Amino acid sequence: MASPALLMRVVASAYSVAERAATIVRNVMSTGDLGIVEKAGPNDLQTKADRLVQMSICASLARKFPKVTIIGEEDLPTDDVTEELIEDGHCEEILQKPCPAQYTGIKEEELVIWVDPLDGTKEYTEGLLDHVTVLIGIAYGGKAIAGVINQPYYNYEAGAGAVLGRTIWGVLGIGAFGFQLTEAPAGKHIIVTTRSHSSTLVNECISALNPDTVIRVGGAGNKVIQLIEGKASAYVFASPGCKKWDTCAPEAILHAVGGKITDIRGNSFQYNKDVKHMNSAGVLATLRNYDYYASRIPNTVKESLVP
Ligand code: AMP
Ligand code: MG
Ligand code: MG
Repeated sequence: MASPALLMRVVASAYSVAERAATIVRNVMSTGDLGIVEKAGPNDLQTKADRLVQMSICASLARKFPKVTIIGEEDLPTDDVTEELIEDGHCEEILQKPCPAQYTGIKEEELVIWVDPLDGTKEYTEGLLDHVTVLIGIAYGGKAIAGVINQPYYNYEAGAGAVLGRTIWGVLGIGAFGFQLTEAPAGKHIIVTTRSHSSTLVNECISALNPDTVIRVGGAGNKVIQLIEGKASAYVFASPGCKKWDTCAPEAILHAVGGKITDIRGNSFQYNKDVKHMNSAGVLATLRNYDYYASRIPNTVKESLVP
């Protein structure tokens, strides 16, 4: 058999790299010393886990795929990564899947990997551990085409017998795996949104959608998981704050199962290496019925958000 296409090798490696990342996230928490640093302010934090995981993911992927562009959230030196942070493994099951025809010819130089080493840092520091995810998004031609989401504390409230953590992955044209795709309750409008980055505009937008329920949880990765597992019908965030590394992996997985994510104005996100990092016009995402929510966002809200 011909050797697997580059895209499948990258996704297979990202899977194992994300599992190593999850181990680091859990290990840092168990030491009890999170090493918290404020970036822009008290709601924009970085911990030792964010730092170590980013070094691990970026150095591991760069070693295997040296010409791929890798963009991580944290501003860190790229040298002096200790050998014990390097993950060399891959997921064999992913390598066995055929690469969609339109992606078989992709070269390393054409891929951009967006890394959020720890999404939901604020919640991590507050002990809301299942909000936390590790996000590795893979973009080609400006589009999110593949992604890996690891949830290091999946099942942590299920007790000692339960397997802790899981890895979800997806590729456009193949589908998404590692979870049970579930529809949200029919006829109910359940909105999932931020818990730590709210604003008047965020709440005004949600009220205009007349929700039956509003779920406030941390993390962009976690909120997209709520959509694909049928816990929420729309992810609505009418604010800047979310960045390309927050949306790339979740977007690829959501789109791989037929969902849709855009900014609040309905524009799709671009993931070329030179793009602006901030998703200034917020986020609107659904598994189904995107148009229902998009058509009900007030123009005043849209006009307050400049892409
Ligand atoms: P949240 O839904 O509040 O967990 O936000 C999703 C992602 O966007 C997380 O990575 C947050 O850190 C980031 N984010 C959202 N709003 C802000 C903000 N105002 N400042 C910094 N980061 C933000
Ligand atoms: Mg994040
Ligand atoms: Mg982060």
